[in-house]
Amino acid sequence: MSLIVHKYGGTSMGSIERIQNVARRVAKWHAAGHQVVVVPSAMSGETNRLLGLAKDISATPDPRELDMLAATGEQASSALLAIALMAQGVSARSYTGWQVPVKTDSAYTKARITGIDDARIRADLDAGRVIVVTGFQGIDDDGHITTLGRGGSDTSAVAVAAAIKADECLIYTDVDGVYTTDPRVVPEARRMNVVSFEEMLEMASLGSKVLQIRSVEFAGKYRVPVRVLSSLTDPLIPLDEEMKSGTLITFEEDKNMEAAVVSGIAFSRDEAKLTLLAVPDTPGVASAILGPVAAANIDVDMIVQNQSVKGTTDFSFTVNRNDFVRTLELLKSQVGPAVGAGEIIADDKVCKVSIVGIGMRSHVGIASLMFRTLAEEGINIQMISTSEIKTSVVINDKYMELAVRALHKAFGLDQEPGQVVAE
Ligand code: ADP
Ligand code: ASP
Ligand code: MG
Repeated sequence: MSLIVHKYGGTSMGSIERIQNVARRVAKWHAAGHQVVVVPSAMSGETNRLLGLAKDISATPDPRELDMLAATGEQASSALLAIALMAQGVSARSYTGWQVPVKTDSAYTKARITGIDDARIRADLDAGRVIVVTGFQGIDDDGHITTLGRGGSDTSAVAVAAAIKADECLIYTDVDGVYTTDPRVVPEARRMNVVSFEEMLEMASLGSKVLQIRSVEFAGKYRVPVRVLSSLTDPLIPLDEEMKSGTLITFEEDKNMEAAVVSGIAFSRDEAKLTLLAVPDTPGVASAILGPVAAANIDVDMIVQNQSVKGTTDFSFTVNRNDFVRTLELLKSQVGPAVGAGEIIADDKVCKVSIVGIGMRSHVGIASLMFRTLAEEGINIQMISTSEIKTSVVINDKYMELAVRALHKAFGLDQEPGQVVAE
């Protein structure tokens, strides 16, 4: 008998039929003698619908109330799943985040899990029940409902798995694993049987929404075995077959692992770029610009400062597109005048495209192949950032799909591993 956490995303929970299929799959695991905790997302479209209602009332809805609202999506889908399980003769019970409780900090709409009390879950599992725990939500120290950021049910599932020391966390979704890039953008993308933890962390942080970044962080911190697999297969396929499907995130550098230099391409449309022209090139300027931005709880991603010309320099940085308007207002009203900047240029039509691979550590010329490939497509690079295992560029977002396809081909990702295209 093992202890397994299943997570089902919005599409997987998207209709009554799909919820019934999820129940069939869970019932199969339960009947095979496993203890199962299920973490569902809201039915597809529901979170967007709820947040849209709030936006119809106010352009700046109160974040606490947004969480109160959005958390209902998972509450409904969890109860429906428990009902579907019971209709199939399986003893089941659903809990909201606050009933477990899943404790978080108080950062509404992007709260972090700080602890999970496993007593209730354990008692119910020991009583032979399947437990359904709402994804995406928790409760802070003062008893306010919080949510974990978009895609946060992945994090709920891995955190629950860590808390109850599950043998495996299975993330069921609408694709059958982690691909070399989003298969909806590049049909030639290949599914990987295994992906290293480090690469998955980079891919998730650079925009591959197949897993929320924090779920990967949790998996690393608590060494939770995570597998990404399809919820759209026949729910009654044999367990051993199911356990071999999908993509396993590994923590060891396996010698037999796909030895590609670049193993994946990630991209994010959620980017916006801001530039302050002609700021004085003196100590403390970066801090004077980015300090107020950080104080406003806005995350800055890439930063570029140019060579100074006659004592001034241009300073650019990117933020999430959701924070674009707020950042621009802050720069215009406060930061720009305070640092004596010239013009402020703002562009929310940019995207970030990244190549990722642990093999990049030991190979040279990877970034230059990336830049050449983009040049051959006539795509201008606006910003560059690199780390040991990734290179990211900011480009005009109308070229995003073209760039991703061209890079996928240039790095041989549509070929079987071992056939990496030469420099
Ligand atoms: P869920 O609702 O199950 O959480 P998401 O929509 O959040 O599903 O994530 C799954 C989607 O992630 C896929 O449908 C796919 O379009 C997208 N995706 C992006 N990058 C990748 C990748 N490298 N491999 C697989 N899917 C990816
Ligand atoms: N329902 C939430 C969202 O749409 C959480 C999730 O699906 O993971 O972002
Ligand atoms: Mg998701």
